[in-house]
Amino acid sequence: MRDETNTVTLDGSEGEGGGQMLRSSLSLSLVTGTALRMVQVRAGRSKPGLLRQHLTALRAAAELSGARVEGAELGSREVLFAPGPVRPGEYTFRVGTAGSATLVMQTVLPALLCAEGPSSVTFEGGTHNPMAPSYDFIERAFVPVINRMGPRVACSIERAGFYPAGGGRFTLRVTPSKTLARVEIMERGAVISRRAVARVAGLSGSIAERELAAAGEVLRWGRECLRVEMLPREQGPGNVVVVDVACEHAAEVFTLCGEKGRSAEAVGEAVAKEALAWMESGVPVGEHLADQLLLPMALAGGGRFVTSEPTLHTTTNARVIESFLPVSIEWEKRDERAWVVTVASRG
Ligand code: ATP
Repeated sequence: MRDETNTVTLDGSEGEGGGQMLRSSLSLSLVTGTALRMVQVRAGRSKPGLLRQHLTALRAAAELSGARVEGAELGSREVLFAPGPVRPGEYTFRVGTAGSATLVMQTVLPALLCAEGPSSVTFEGGTHNPMAPSYDFIERAFVPVINRMGPRVACSIERAGFYPAGGGRFTLRVTPSKTLARVEIMERGAVISRRAVARVAGLSGSIAERELAAAGEVLRWGRECLRVEMLPREQGPGNVVVVDVACEHAAEVFTLCGEKGRSAEAVGEAVAKEALAWMESGVPVGEHLADQLLLPMALAGGGRFVTSEPTLHTTTNARVIESFLPVSIEWEKRDERAWVVTVASRG
């Protein structure tokens, strides 16, 4: 809802009721210069209000634009964000815990894609978290699509950050473009490369070996597609398995972190099954990438892709985007497994 002061007010308890609503609306507020008031922030979650990761995203968005902010405190359930013009440049944003640094990145990147000049932004915190895009996903699934839209985004990682220690660090260098090109991702095309990497930091390499043996069996991939990476001990303790498939027109990355009480075999098998489900579905864009492409496509004024059945998370994100931009986002079922998502300009 937009009032006479041109402030968009959103109820964070609507739809899926999670942190994505806040992050997407901060991104959109930055890009459009429209003030945002969010009430009932993350009301759908067991610990509602701002967690460290959301607070860092809010502060990062404020630093980027000299915004006036109210409610920037841990646990806060109501936020006012009135941005100034976006100032590209060099920044470092630190979550301060193992909270997801990629989600902070997700909040500020859209504004930098069309900014007046280049930026170099470093993010510190978790790089491989459950329920968040991994650094690998950002680098090899998300950013390649952004680069097809015109801007140039180059990613580099200095060190990984795992729960509970955090301490990861990565940088995005962004060369903006005046406008964003519309992109369509309707099919995958042929597979160009595929691999499963198991990384361990401060843990035994046998964990990674066992994960890959289990993943390789599910995927029916030979040894040449499987790789163990030993990270420096001080980046741990941590363990993650990353399954990557790059095709001619789309790439997907599936990531799962090891955790206490879950066997290495179970971790390898679970992430491989997720990748296999995507491969068998035939759709080019997976559930999470679908979620994350809506906003840049809306900024481009349009776009289209084929994905799996929409989640409540994605449809909630679509409604947030439609509150700020003159676009409509619609899903059309193509067959049992595939849905066509169309982002179209209402203007
Ligand atoms: P909460 O739900 O507790 O508010 P949150 O702020 O972390 O937590 P969500 O609203 O759940 O946020 O959003 C999580 C984001 O992470 C979404 O953009 C989703 O697409 C992305 N995501 C989650 N899991 C993965 C994954 N395995 N790979 C890539 N992206 C993921």
